Amino acid sequence: MQLINHLESEVRGYVRNFPAVFSRAKGSRLFDANGQSYLDFFAGAGTLNYGHNNPAVKKALLDYISDDGLMHGLDLATVAKLDFLRIFEDNILKPRTLDYKIQFTGPTGTNAVEAAIKLARKVKKRAHVVAFTNGYHGHSLGALALTGNRHYHNEHFGSHDNVSHLPFDGYLGAGVNTLDYFRKLLTDNSSGLPLPAAVILETIQAEGGINVASNTWLQELAALCREHDMLLIVDDIQVGNGRSGDFFSFEEAGIVPDMVCLSKSLGGGQPFSLVLFKRELDQWLPGEHTGTFRGNQLAFVAATALLAHWQDDTFSQEISRLSSHVHGRLSALVKANSGLELRGKGMIWGINFGDGELAAAISKACFERKLIIESAGSEGEVLKFLMPLTTTIAEFDEGFECFADAYQSVCPTAKIQALDLKRA
Ligand code: PLP
Repeated sequence: MQLINHLESEVRGYVRNFPAVFSRAKGSRLFDANGQSYLDFFAGAGTLNYGHNNPAVKKALLDYISDDGLMHGLDLATVAKLDFLRIFEDNILKPRTLDYKIQFTGPTGTNAVEAAIKLARKVKKRAHVVAFTNGYHGHSLGALALTGNRHYHNEHFGSHDNVSHLPFDGYLGAGVNTLDYFRKLLTDNSSGLPLPAAVILETIQAEGGINVASNTWLQELAALCREHDMLLIVDDIQVGNGRSGDFFSFEEAGIVPDMVCLSKSLGGGQPFSLVLFKRELDQWLPGEHTGTFRGNQLAFVAATALLAHWQDDTFSQEISRLSSHVHGRLSALVKANSGLELRGKGMIWGINFGDGELAAAISKACFERKLIIESAGSEGEVLKFLMPLTTTIAEFDEGFECFADAYQSVCPTAKIQALDLKRA
């Protein structure tokens, strides 16, 4: 750690919370240089849905590299790209009757967000975009403007240009339909809101504290977008790729966004991002939005291997089984302890402790017990359970036991005895 503290910028983050030197990883576990095992309930902030070193990815990458497959190809046609396009169309787009075109962007999620917003502005010939309270869309300047949390902002970044943040579902409390306010702003000539080109949202806000938009709210938002000629962009970077239970997080609501941003788990740990958009929105000129690392070849290979998970609904059913188990255990803990709130869906769950310092102390105590779990929310008050989707029930129970013990060590009055930890 001394070398890291000496040379790596103060901007470093996770290494401060989880100060170990990791050397190997497999499935839902990380191992440090001393061979100590840690359970991973963080999954690279949603990048490792299919587990660390998924065997299918490992084999495909080793074969590809030993065959001298291209490491880099700009946006040339390659066999790796064609294989990816074929399986993405067959296993993801066609079964959902989605007729999207695909733009490969630079490798990080924020690159996909930038491309989507830029295209929306070009198509609609309007600069304004609506994002939501607690939304998180990345840190390059365009994406940062859409990100809510003040922690990341500084007035010198010129941060919220051409963006309005409106209340997300539930932001004003249960029983208030926040879209009534949005509708009023759109229809009132004096509201001060310019007609937006697009509305961007996460259907489940992950970094923002595991806030789940209801299906009816999403359907009403989609209708509002159609009514007022605004493009609906779903940022599925963290909660796509099966995290919500389906491949896309919006499937259950039955909406079809105009654009979708995907990244993180798509490449199984290899940097990879893309934007999907309806065919008529493909108004780019050749090379108008470019970048050296679009369409990472190794990520094409990894993603092709992983998309086999979606050739039928077996994987969704496995996620659903694990989700019911996780939900059962977490809700028992929350019910036994007043003042806690459980949020989530599919395989993204959060316990709201209502206090960022308390959540940080529990996360630290978890790490001391070799469990990696991070906080989310405007003040970091929510502990986020984001393990790989391939985690076994036994692994979850092992981690849950560490978590419950860590919770009790920080809050000695916490009731965890009733949870039958050993018998789970
Ligand atoms: N959008 C969402 C919903 C995210 O969760 C993230 C990252 O956590 C991003 C965008 C930015 O992705 P990246 O950090 O790869 O740039």
